Amino acid sequence: MNKKSFDNPKPFYNFASRALDQSRIGSLPILTFHDLNDRSSAISFSPRVFHHGIAKLHESGYKTLRLAEIVDYMQEGKPFPNRSFVISLDDGNKSVFDKAFPVLQRYGMSATIFLTVGENKKSRSTDRLPSIAGGSMLSWKEIMEMHCRGIDFGAHTLNHPDNPFASRKG
Ligand SMILES: [Zn+2]
Repeated sequence: MNKKSFDNPKPFYNFASRALDQSRIGSLPILTFHDLNDRSSAISFSPRVFHHGIAKLHESGYKTLRLAEIVDYMQEGKPFPNRSFVISLDDGNKSVFDKAFPVLQRYGMSATIFLTVGENKKSRSTDRLPSIAGGSMLSWKEIMEMHCRGIDFGAHTLNHPDNPFASRKG
């Protein structure tokens, strides 16, 4: 929210009230993933289950909406299409390119990947995103390839601070 919106609350109010009306009409499931691997970590998800789940959703007629499309629906006050949902992938692990991207392409699904961009202190290579949990991260070449094929990108924090307790400097 920028300052201008607070100076003139009407457009914000109009948007928010439409958004609330929208939430009464229907909700939109968002599936969020991090790293696709078979470890028992809190941010791991089995690539096999991911593939199976996406194939099942596709078979059942589910389609993904891109975040920009959601904004359009909300601004126009239209209900979301039946059986639509959103996929987001946090952090930008290399498994997103190796495991998730081929499945998404196969079933014509979109996703938004929130990248932990920042200084790569551990490696001189600036080709890959800095690792936040020790795993291998996406390269800029992989990011560009996905971008060219309908995958969207957004910004993540540089690491995983506990936001209410984080200092201003991080
Ligand atoms: Zn994250």
